[in-house]
Amino acid sequence: MTAENLQTHLPYAKEDFVSGQDVRWCPGCGDYAILSVMQRTLAQFTTPRENHVFISGIGCASRFPYYMNTYGFHTIHGRAPAIATGLKCARPELTVWVVTGDGDGLSIGGNHLIHCMRRNVDLNIILVNNQIYGLTKGQYSPTSEKGKITKSSPYGTIDYPINPLCVAIAAEATFIARTVDTDPRHMGQVLARAAMHKGVSFVEIYQNCIIFNKDTFMPITGRETRDDRAIYLEDGKPLVFGQKKDKTIRMNGLKTEIVNLADVKDQKDLLVHRENDPSPNYAYVLTQMAYPEMPVPFGIFRCIEKPTYDGMMNDQIKFAIEKKGKGKLEEILYTEDIWTVRGKDQKK
Ligand code: SF4
Repeated sequence: MTAENLQTHLPYAKEDFVSGQDVRWCPGCGDYAILSVMQRTLAQFTTPRENHVFISGIGCASRFPYYMNTYGFHTIHGRAPAIATGLKCARPELTVWVVTGDGDGLSIGGNHLIHCMRRNVDLNIILVNNQIYGLTKGQYSPTSEKGKITKSSPYGTIDYPINPLCVAIAAEATFIARTVDTDPRHMGQVLARAAMHKGVSFVEIYQNCIIFNKDTFMPITGRETRDDRAIYLEDGKPLVFGQKKDKTIRMNGLKTEIVNLADVKDQKDLLVHRENDPSPNYAYVLTQMAYPEMPVPFGIFRCIEKPTYDGMMNDQIKFAIEKKGKGKLEEILYTEDIWTVRGKDQKK
């Protein structure tokens, strides 16, 4: 999808993207907000509804394709990125979304997720992070905080959690963002930018699993606390936060530190957000800002351009066909080095 697709006159309404299936999430689950914002966001684009495809793995959020009035595929645990890669390569005109969770995407599917991101496949990956396994009823997940008491860690987990955005940066994903289910306006802006990005988009959404991990993000994103504990990234602007917008971030060596805006004498000391910084180092620094020591960043951490895997693959196929003509699969399979495996009773 490109920026030209974002239109001023809307032929679609949110309702056009509502499938009519019974939504089977627990009452109060944060997934409802994500679904609603996604439906509203896609209605802003001229992309034909039948050109959107939602591919998911296994988990609560992976029920997403049933509820979108688009094409969709509820696939196998952790493998949605691989299936989505195949689809995007075969049908480059489609806008392909992957919906995964912290268990599906970062545990069993971690390997697929990493390789999909480092290849820069033109997919939009939504990782719904609730820091718990919800569908299987409350075991700790790869993003659960150390010491968390769950059904599978009655004395507290001894795992160090994985940071989803660090994984995306390690794989050098070209679009990396974070948003939260309780801020639909911000979520809509992030999803629209993800949709417009050419290349892999990785969006982490903090989501409230009201049954098994209720309010886990509230200390950061709660109405009373978010001004001081969350920081909203704006391209080209300094990182300013606080109820009175009087605090900022600066670098002290390789670490970030909080300072009062009034105490910054030289503007050069301010950390100015640059989402198109070609190096992943700056975005990595942002991912290390975590509660309670630092405010937690929300918004677009990184947005750079790089040729896509699907684009390069299709160029290469075109080049090979121009050079050698269209091949026949049988000829490739039966040209040379063929063995026939026979049972001991079969004749030679
Ligand atoms: Fe949502 Fe949690 Fe219920 Fe799953 S278990 S539907 S994540 S509230």
